[in-house]
Amino acid sequence: MADCLFCKIIEGEIPSSKVYEDKDVYAFRDIEPQAPVHVLIVPKKHIESLDDCSEEDIELLGRVMTKVQEIAKLAGITNGYRLVSNCGEDGFQTVNHLHFHLLGGRPLLWPPG
Ligand code: AMP
Ligand code: ZN
Repeated sequence: MADCLFCKIIEGEIPSSKVYEDKDVYAFRDIEPQAPVHVLIVPKKHIESLDDCSEEDIELLGRVMTKVQEIAKLAGITNGYRLVSNCGEDGFQTVNHLHFHLLGGRPLLWPPG
C-alpha cells in the first residue's frame, strides 16, 4: 500500500535492521526497543490489523506464527518471550499494518500497564 510505513520497509524504500525474511513475512528490529530484544514480525500482505483479518488469511497467519520460534532464536532470545499485537485505539496501535511485537531478553511484567 502506497502510504504505509511497513510496506515501505518491506519494499526496502525505508531502511531497517532485518532479522528474517521469506515470501510471507519480514521481521526487523523496532526503532524504539521496549526490551533488550524487540523485533517486529510483519506479514508482507498489507492487512491493517487483527480486526481486518479474514478467512483468506488463515494460511498466511498460520505460516507467520510457526516462524516465530525461528525468528526468536535468530534475534538472540534464549529464555522465553512475549508476542503482542496492538489493535485499534485502546490497543495503542500506531502503524496500521498488522504486526507482532516479539519481546525478550528480560523478565516481562504481567499484566502490562
Ligand atoms: P504499534 O504502536 O503497535 O503500532 O507498533 C509500531 C511500532 O513500530 C513501534 O514500536 C515503533 O517503535 C515501531 N517503528 C516505527 N517506525 C519504525 C521504523 N522506521 N523502524 C522500526 N520500527 C519502527
Ligand atoms: Zn502496509
